[in-house]
Amino acid sequence: MMDKVVLENFRKVLNTRKNALLNWLKSSEPESKKIHLGGCSENEVEQVIQEHDNALEGIKCGEFGVCRECSGEVERERLELDFTTCVCLDHYSSEQKRILEQDHELAAKVQRQLLPYSIPVLEGIQIAAYTEPAHVVSGDYFDFFSYPQGDKGVVVADVMGKGISASMLMSNLQASLRILGPEHIHLDVLASRLNELFRRNQKLISFVSLFLLKIEKNRQVIQYCNAGHNPPIFREAGSGTIHWLKPTGPAIGLKPAGGYKSKEKQFNSGDLLVLYTDGLVEAQNNKDDEFGKDRLEDYVTGNFQDSADLFLKGLRKRVKDFAGTLQDDLTILVIKFL
Ligand SMILES: [Zn+2]
Repeated sequence: MMDKVVLENFRKVLNTRKNALLNWLKSSEPESKKIHLGGCSENEVEQVIQEHDNALEGIKCGEFGVCRECSGEVERERLELDFTTCVCLDHYSSEQKRILEQDHELAAKVQRQLLPYSIPVLEGIQIAAYTEPAHVVSGDYFDFFSYPQGDKGVVVADVMGKGISASMLMSNLQASLRILGPEHIHLDVLASRLNELFRRNQKLISFVSLFLLKIEKNRQVIQYCNAGHNPPIFREAGSGTIHWLKPTGPAIGLKPAGGYKSKEKQFNSGDLLVLYTDGLVEAQNNKDDEFGKDRLEDYVTGNFQDSADLFLKGLRKRVKDFAGTLQDDLTILVIKFL
């Protein structure tokens, strides 16, 4: 039997998607205003809805994710890729398995190449970044992009689901961001575009939490849009005030019309901004305590004078000392305004 929490996640996502598809069918809006479904016809959409119903029914009666051949468990990451999968890997021929394994290796390779080769150099701003996958293929992602006017874009993301499906989603995300990012000076619009793109694939049972940041050096302003991501922490040097940059919209791929907002914040010399994924605040020690936002805030308050590099090193050590080995992927990005 599959883990209850995992099943509940599947149920939620399937339900949300099913309702979105039903609304699409009912909607009398002109084609151009509807969610983009990759050119699906109404018949095809009805069929996909039926598949959602079958899966939801399967969850209810305990058949979802159970192998049709041996009653064993269908691998979770294969279900995340295609929720209609109903046979476990054991029944694949060695040739079929070999192909799947190659896919997996390819996914890992693709992902290693997805991470940025270097951290951008920006006068007056220090940036330090660190990422560590808990598994071969990780669900964390970060990247940088440049705007034509010289402003910098930064993104940190966490893909729900691990393995092949996650890495496929990520390579999509990277390609989309590198193309769309520089064209969109308003991050809310960028988030909406990404949301549209992700929702085209109706069988992909996954979503992405994402923090988009634009550093506008000339105006001394950061613009951000938080799509369901862990809130980054911003410390003002002057007053010592801590701000959590909370979500301004849902995770990408979760709702048809995201309704994203972007916000702006002035930055000054000495301010510090820390972006991260849930692997940081949810790192657990052997007593099941989480590292949590309070410990992060304490660390920020105690070490804000450090350079970005030193701060990052120290924070990594603090988390390792607290949790021992990591169960989840961990990504941290430190930005210090000089
Ligand atoms: Zn089986």
